[in-house]
Amino acid sequence: MQCVTFTAFGPAELLHRLRARESAAAVSPITHIERVPARAGRATPWPTWTDPTVRDAFIAQGIAAPWEHQAAAATLAWEGTHVVLATGTASGKSLGYQLPALNALATDPKATVLYLSPTKALAADQLRGIVRLGMDGVRPSTYDGDTPREEREWIRQHARFVLTNPDMLHHAMLPGHARWAAFFRRLAYVVVDECHTYRGVFGSHVAHVLRRLRRSATRYGSSPTFVLASATSGDPAGTASRLIGLPVVAVTEDASPRGAVTFALWEPPLLPASTVSLPAQAGSASVPAPASRSAAPHSWPPAPTSPSAASHSSLPAPASPSAASHSSLPAPSFSEALVDVEMPPIRRSALRETADLLADAVAVGTRTLAFVRSRRGAEVVAAMTRRALDEAVPGLGDRVAAYRAGYLREDRRAIEQALLSGELLALASTNALELGVDLVGLDAVLICGYPGTRASLWQQAGRAGRAGGEALAVLIARDDPLDTYLVHHPEAVFGRPVEATVLDPSNPYVLGPQLCCAASEAPLTHADLDLFGGEGAAAAARALTAEGVLRQRPSGWYWTHRGRPEVDLRGTGGTPVAVVESSTGRLLGTVDPGSSHVMLHAGAVYLHQGVSYVVDDLDLDDAVALVHQEEPDWTTHARDVTNLSVVGVRSYVDAGPVGLFFGEVDVTNQVVSYQRRRIGSGEIIDTRPLDLPVRELRTMAVWFTVSPESLVAAGVEPADFPGALHAAEHAGIGLLPLIATCDRWDIGGLSTANHADTEAPTVFVYDGHPGGAGFAERAYGTAAEWLRATREAIASCVCEVGCPSCVQSPKCGNGNNPLNKPDAVKVLDTVLAALPPA
Ligand SMILES: [Zn+2]
Ligand SMILES: [Zn+2]
Repeated sequence: MQCVTFTAFGPAELLHRLRARESAAAVSPITHIERVPARAGRATPWPTWTDPTVRDAFIAQGIAAPWEHQAAAATLAWEGTHVVLATGTASGKSLGYQLPALNALATDPKATVLYLSPTKALAADQLRGIVRLGMDGVRPSTYDGDTPREEREWIRQHARFVLTNPDMLHHAMLPGHARWAAFFRRLAYVVVDECHTYRGVFGSHVAHVLRRLRRSATRYGSSPTFVLASATSGDPAGTASRLIGLPVVAVTEDASPRGAVTFALWEPPLLPASTVSLPAQAGSASVPAPASRSAAPHSWPPAPTSPSAASHSSLPAPASPSAASHSSLPAPSFSEALVDVEMPPIRRSALRETADLLADAVAVGTRTLAFVRSRRGAEVVAAMTRRALDEAVPGLGDRVAAYRAGYLREDRRAIEQALLSGELLALASTNALELGVDLVGLDAVLICGYPGTRASLWQQAGRAGRAGGEALAVLIARDDPLDTYLVHHPEAVFGRPVEATVLDPSNPYVLGPQLCCAASEAPLTHADLDLFGGEGAAAAARALTAEGVLRQRPSGWYWTHRGRPEVDLRGTGGTPVAVVESSTGRLLGTVDPGSSHVMLHAGAVYLHQGVSYVVDDLDLDDAVALVHQEEPDWTTHARDVTNLSVVGVRSYVDAGPVGLFFGEVDVTNQVVSYQRRRIGSGEIIDTRPLDLPVRELRTMAVWFTVSPESLVAAGVEPADFPGALHAAEHAGIGLLPLIATCDRWDIGGLSTANHADTEAPTVFVYDGHPGGAGFAERAYGTAAEWLRATREAIASCVCEVGCPSCVQSPKCGNGNNPLNKPDAVKVLDTVLAALPPA
């Protein structure tokens, strides 16, 4: 650790406090301190091609000259090279695309520009920026769902800088291309802002929407240059190229100035073994630790009774239905459902730690913002902080507030004002504050739980720092494998990024519908098929023709229906299940059909904005779940049975005793029962059977096999294969977001000591979306890196037999049983020793 000196007062005091807390602890909660030095900006003269009117407009806004990265990206774009500008937050990416785009409008009176952003709010923000420049003849306009019908015609005819989103492009502009002919004919630039948000299935759809845009532009005679803006990531050029289907050059050297930040990584301490002090959200004070924590690893095969009985032997035996429902389980495979269930904690809660640190911050007068992932968490942190401060100095708690989306605009303004004036010293916020709102004058930022991506992490940390002053940021780890890994591997936070945005335009469930959209806009030619993916697109067109959806004629493939194809870019497939309160008929929300069996089965406890409901009935035919408000003192945990069969191998690595594969799989999943567990203790009250249909998913998976001989040679007893593989699978899923922008709910897994298709001990990790979303493919491509991080996460966890920070999964369909933590490390060592290095 380095010695730190501050020029500003607040952060130094706070860090001093944190250090005092550190020295009082048995094990230091501070795992690392990184000092990110201040950086002077490197400006460069306006590029020689800049039109004086454009240059003067920027200068009038106070931009005397561009930073080097802005000029570099702008010049590449001006020369016609597709470019992605991937630099940090607040590095001025907008100028990088505004400069060539506005220059084109200034020098060619007929040229047009299309700007795409993932949200309407961002497009509106950009519009304000363009309008402020006050350039003649640009005629910027947003074109989205809110645009009045009477304005649309004017925009199509006259606007030269149109700001919209991919959904509007897909639903309105491309199907109505004839009315946009004048606009498309002179299209000089397409700007794709925040392009890292186009990931997974949504990103795959957007990739085809952009190909359809390119096709329309070509038909009308233009060939626009693409300028993309991205958060920093592992492979910005590769991702951008996959998104637009053309080679892209990346500019990644950030030349903007920034203030110094001291960044601490903080791991909450383990709770004493004898008592578990619950986080406030669980709603009670202090209860005995669950007995299973200290139990020895479970033997294999498990007794024919329910695994819950075995793992919680000191607790009341479960009622008989559980044994009945489990007797029919096909034994040796362990799978992950795709939704959340709750785990009892073994570390002090990150919320409570955050509240303590926030109280410290207020006590020393440091203006601090705490980012908490959920709305409820933000409220809880604010309440705990207020209580702690009021106990010390009555009234001091008034200087803390919660802040989240959903507050009225006036309330938010009032809170921002109070913070600026110093009346408020601390806020606990959701990521509503991450984007947009311009809060200045903060000394420190506390980040409660890794926000999922490095882009978000730095966006949040970047909130700290007054002009020229130093700032403090603290990442407080939650009880989760990825958070735990990061606080013990600072190089993954501060070094070169490895996380990449992934998408898979070849997903047949995306490609087929998108080809229909394209065909309905204009018949598909053979040349078009190359644009949409070559042989894969040709095969899809043939299949659609066989189904009668497309008709092939000598001139190409035609859409045969009268209406347009119905394709939702953000859809997850199937009708969302509506959650309706029986007594009032009120619609509380919807749940993705893939998660409905787990979250909305009869008897399930369903949380909605902090209010607890119990499901009376799940009607799958009508896609409705009827619920009533009730706050029982138990949670519900669905149990499921998953089978997986290999359909085909697309790529593999033969590494002697180890095999690594990427390919297509069929997954069948059935939710068979659910457990009711006492809130707090985790005690299992009973297990109740469910009668839900089997669901099928064809998707992409990565898997590895290890020969039984090599596992035995590594010291793993055959009886421990299942627990070792299961534990490795859990941690592997938990660490995948390190290398691909996804969260663990996008991924499923299955492990088995002997799989019928591989005839070996095997761990599968699959995309939880029909046809795949690119996550498994990225895992395959970076397997050595991914599995090494997984191994490190398990090995470095201080627990004895496995905990939520390493091998336990909050969504295990088998109740986290069996799990063998030490042997999981041996499995991964065996795999890593055989695989070629990264
Ligand atoms: Zn652990
Ligand atoms: Zn599991």
